[in-house]
This record gives sequence, structure tokens and C-alpha cells, in this order.
Amino acid sequence: MPPAPGGKQRTLSIVKPDGVKKGVIGEVIRRFEKEGIRIAAMKMLHLTRRQAEGFYDVHRQRPFFASLTEFMSSGPIVVMVLEGDDVIARNRTIMGATDPKKADAGTLRAEFAGNIEQNIVHGSDAPETAATEIRYFFSDMEITS
Ligand code: ATP
Ligand code: MG
Repeated sequence: MPPAPGGKQRTLSIVKPDGVKKGVIGEVIRRFEKEGIRIAAMKMLHLTRRQAEGFYDVHRQRPFFASLTEFMSSGPIVVMVLEGDDVIARNRTIMGATDPKKADAGTLRAEFAGNIEQNIVHGSDAPETAATEIRYFFSDMEITS
């Protein structure tokens, strides 16, 4: 049975290369901590093109796949496992809509994103994708409880 909405969840958050270049790693983390979201794991890495393609495999047929994976492998990123009640939806509220022009005022993307592709942060969109994405970057031993 899937966990009830509102129960304790984990999600994957990424500060994308544009976020790292703009110096907003701390601002992103501050918003999570302010909301009482626990950071269960965190590391910085620089994806190869192949690793970015693997992460975004579900978007392989989309017209923006080549550009997106080039961008995601263009510089270091910070990947985090977030933990808390209903954290998948709460993280996406903190992030704002994919397109910063449509993102609510005060969200990370409204404040810092340049465009629909270079939009500062990633967040898993469902429990199943969260589990897959967390496993892509972290072993069990790297996630604190
Ligand atoms: P993310 O998965 O990064 O949290 P999201 O769920 O809001 O963002 P998706 O539809 O899953 O958005 O798209 C994944 C990523 O692909 C987006 O965050 C963005 O970087 C890029 N992207 C999405 N749509 C477009 C587009 N129309 N043109 C260019 N890039 C896009
Ligand atoms: Mg998505």
C-alpha cells in the first residue's frame, strides 16, 4: 500500500549548475531548514553527459533533451535527500512552477531562475520517482536517519 499523503516521505533535490554558479546553494538549503525539512544526505558532483542522460531518461524523447543534458553536465550540482511529512509536494511548492514566468512570487524559481530550462532546482514529483532518483545518486549507507 502506498504511504498516505502527509506521511513521512523522502525526495531528491538538486541545485542545478545555474544555481551553483549564481551562489544560491545556501539560500536553497536555508528554505528547506526554515520549513523544518530534514536534510538526510548531501553531496556535490559534476555529472558527465552520460550520467545526466541517465538521470533524465524519462525525457529522452522530448525536444529539449539534448540541451537539458548538456546544461545539467555543464558544471557542479548539489544533490540532497530531503525528509519530512509530505516533503515531495512541499519541496515542489518551495521550488515553484517549471517555467519561472509562471512560478508563484517568492518561490525559488520565481526569484532566481533564468528560464524554463535553467531553473535552479530539481525536485522529484512522486514517491516512485523519488525512490528511483535517490537510488541514482545515493547508497543506503550515505543516507542518515
Ligand atoms: P524537475 O524535474 O527538474 O524538478 P519539473 O518537474 O518542474 O522539473 P519536468 O517537466 O520534469 O519539470 O522537466 C524536467 C526539466 O527539464 C525542467 O526542470 C527543465 O530544466 C527542463 N525543461 C522542462 N520543460 C522544458 C522546455 N519546454 N524547454 C526546455 N527545458 C525544459
Ligand atoms: Mg520533473
